[in-house]
Amino acid sequence: MKNWAANLTYSSARVERPRTLAELAGIVAGEPRVRALGSRHSFCDVADTKGVHVQLDLLDDGRASLEVDPSTGVASVRAGLRYGEVAADLHAQGRALAAMASLPHISVAGAVATGTHGSGDGTRSLAGDVVGLELMTASGETLTLRRGDADFPGSVVALGALGVVTRVELATAPTFDVRQDVFTGLPWDALIENLDAVLGSAYSVSVFTSWFEPDVRMVWCKSRVADGAGVAPSLPVDLGATPATQPMHPLPDVAAVACTEQGGVPGPWFERLPHFRLDFTPSLGEELQSEYLLPRTAGPDAVRAVRALGDRLGPLLLTSEIRTIAGDDLWLSTTPEDSLALHFTWKQDWPAVRAVLPELEAALLPLGARPHWGKLFTVPVTALRGLYPRFDDFAELAERLDPTGKFRGGYVETLLAE
Ligand SMILES: Cc1cc2nc3c(=O)[nH]c(=O)nc-3n(C[C@H](O)[C@H](O)[C@H](O)COP(=O)(O)OP(=O)(O)OC[C@H]3O[C@@H](n4cnc5c(N)ncnc54)[C@H](O)[C@@H]3O)c2cc1C
Repeated sequence: MKNWAANLTYSSARVERPRTLAELAGIVAGEPRVRALGSRHSFCDVADTKGVHVQLDLLDDGRASLEVDPSTGVASVRAGLRYGEVAADLHAQGRALAAMASLPHISVAGAVATGTHGSGDGTRSLAGDVVGLELMTASGETLTLRRGDADFPGSVVALGALGVVTRVELATAPTFDVRQDVFTGLPWDALIENLDAVLGSAYSVSVFTSWFEPDVRMVWCKSRVADGAGVAPSLPVDLGATPATQPMHPLPDVAAVACTEQGGVPGPWFERLPHFRLDFTPSLGEELQSEYLLPRTAGPDAVRAVRALGDRLGPLLLTSEIRTIAGDDLWLSTTPEDSLALHFTWKQDWPAVRAVLPELEAALLPLGARPHWGKLFTVPVTALRGLYPRFDDFAELAERLDPTGKFRGGYVETLLAE
């Protein structure tokens, strides 16, 4: 069995798809090695196991797949659902999530477990908006954790190492509309000199670039629309960009048919905040991804450092994306403070990418970078531990909930080894 990008063959071909909590408990309690698998969109071996994978896409826990508490707006969802499915249901009930990742195809539990994020100065990662979860631990018993509980901040971005999450509670807001406007040709100097202003010019901004071209390839601005109207942000144009004349895809020379609607046409948040539509295959598949998250204050230096490597990175890149995320308090969060994300979509040539990553990491780690848990990096696990002040607390929690290491696998096994 392979992951979505087919760059990884999991160590075990055994997959169970339990239909009830009792079936899941039987597998979890009875197997020596278990690991939850989401929609297999991670590029690294974060979800790997030598034992049995459990996928929750068929799990019926006896409750509605989505329940919204009208008094708090908190939505309780089955963990194996994809974000796109949750979003459509939420919107139908008049509610919205603050953020979506670039693709809506990823499972809720899998996305949350690695700190997956979208973009926006004021929006947290998807994990940052989790307010509770139900976790099946090594014994097959279910533990409910809510914001305010001592172990909660260690249990959300948890890399599948604490058990199998069966339900996730998400903060929601009243539903809203968004328009998406794409601009091309922003000069590089204008971006670097006005980095915060450009990234803050709309509710959610993504800058797509190859790093070495004289201008930034595209700026995608997603703006909240009040009362069904609203105007495109003017800043990219003031700085020398021009509005795109046709729908664009994040990858050059790829038709935009799989992308959410652009051109300033207002639509519901979940049909504009992700770059890709749920009913189309996102992106090309033949790619690898890496991403580094840095304190926002290091942003201009980090962008300059990567631009200086542009000639080395450019030939390996399909595209690259710059985004922002508001900070949260989760122990293994890659965004513990307001952060800038530098993302790289590589051609599927792992030996060449593997050779260039240490150079990129040597430039970014001194600036406070943390690699995305679900993408490809070469930072040794010993160094990874040092990037998280609460890592020892997380390791103690994992040991307490999973004393035999049942839920460890892939690099997470080494990460948690003594
Ligand atoms: C085309 C593409 C676009 C992407 N865009 C973005 C983006 O915009 N932003 C971003 O941050 N990332 C992005 N990613 C990365 C992706 O969001 C993460 O790798 C995410 O973790 C994938 O979720 P998944 O459901 O596929 O989980 P998997 O890859 O299947 O698993 C990831 C982790 O979640 C754990 N897990 C899964 N289910 C459970 C469960 N029920 N209980 C406990 N643990 C569980 C696994 O054990 C593993 O540790 C993208 C990936 C692709 C392929």
